[in-house]
Amino acid sequence: MKDSFGRNVHSMRISVTDRCNMRCDYCVSGDKLQLRPAQELLSLEEIETIVRAAGTLGFDTFRFTGGEPLVREGVPGLIERVGALPGIRKLSLSTNGSLLARHVDQLADAGVTGLNISLDSLVTERFRRITRGGNLARVLEGIGAALRKDRFTVKLNAVIVRGINDDELDELASLTLNQPLTVRFIEYMPFGAWRAGGENEPDPTISTQEMMQVLERRFDVEENVSGPVGEGPARYVKIKGAEGFIGLISPVYQPFCERCNRIRLTSDGHIKSCLLQDDRFALRDWMRGPEYSYSELVMRVRDAVLLKPREHSYSRGLDMSTVGG
Ligand code: SAM
Ligand code: SF4
Repeated sequence: MKDSFGRNVHSMRISVTDRCNMRCDYCVSGDKLQLRPAQELLSLEEIETIVRAAGTLGFDTFRFTGGEPLVREGVPGLIERVGALPGIRKLSLSTNGSLLARHVDQLADAGVTGLNISLDSLVTERFRRITRGGNLARVLEGIGAALRKDRFTVKLNAVIVRGINDDELDELASLTLNQPLTVRFIEYMPFGAWRAGGENEPDPTISTQEMMQVLERRFDVEENVSGPVGEGPARYVKIKGAEGFIGLISPVYQPFCERCNRIRLTSDGHIKSCLLQDDRFALRDWMRGPEYSYSELVMRVRDAVLLKPREHSYSRGLDMSTVGG
């Protein structure tokens, strides 16, 4: 459906859980995830009902995310049921990859065609530090299993942070040389409590423009190529002769609000019409109460789309692990 600014909003990003088996520095503020009691999370049935309501409004693209979506039992089954609803065009999953190897068959059977896998470093110890405990080998195993399955569009997402992993741009980009995958570099959004950058400190966010300059020093980069399938926020380039693509995502320096086609459903049952704004439409308690009706639910989803702001401003009330990225 069209929002108030004429954008065709047809994509929903669903955080199925706030739980995660990693605690990436840029995503989670503090040492611990701020977990909600289980009963405050939407049940899988409630998520399915909201998806069905969105489907009647023309939503046809759904991405499942978290926290880490694969730590919640029953998520592949949920995706399969969503895929059976009329009019669904695309199902994808954002994952940290650590549990992927054992789930690829189930995900393919459920109809998932797009896998976005976070990969911020190729150095074991650094990866462990950034993710506060993550195991690089297991993630690489998950990526390998996804590629071998030959059923998914695989995109590896790297949040590049100055002084943390910006020296790995070349190595990460090189993954596209001989493999059918896309590596996407994402500008660090100053979320959570981490490295917001003090007055006299260098800005931890590196613009995609600066990233391109680094890549061009090492590679012959072709610009404005039509990238892999997808209508997300990335623009794509390619190393000449490479098998895969490089995506650049610039939420900070070149926001893509005018092309934004999505809304978000948080794990605790709020619709967020913009990632970076705190306006939220609470659905959970109302859905569990006596006033609930399905037709009113459709109206509430519609209202969230209509109230989508023209552009974002940074509001830092929530961690990404809560919102779903
Ligand atoms: N756990 C899954 C994963 O790591 O891919 C899915 C959820 S995670 C919140 C979704 C995406 O948000 C990841 O690609 C992650 O890198 C990104 N993200 C989290 N915090 C971010 C930040 N401060 N700036 C930019 N991207 C961020
Ligand atoms: Fe977990 Fe993903 Fe956030 Fe890392 S980016 S803490 S893997 S939700």
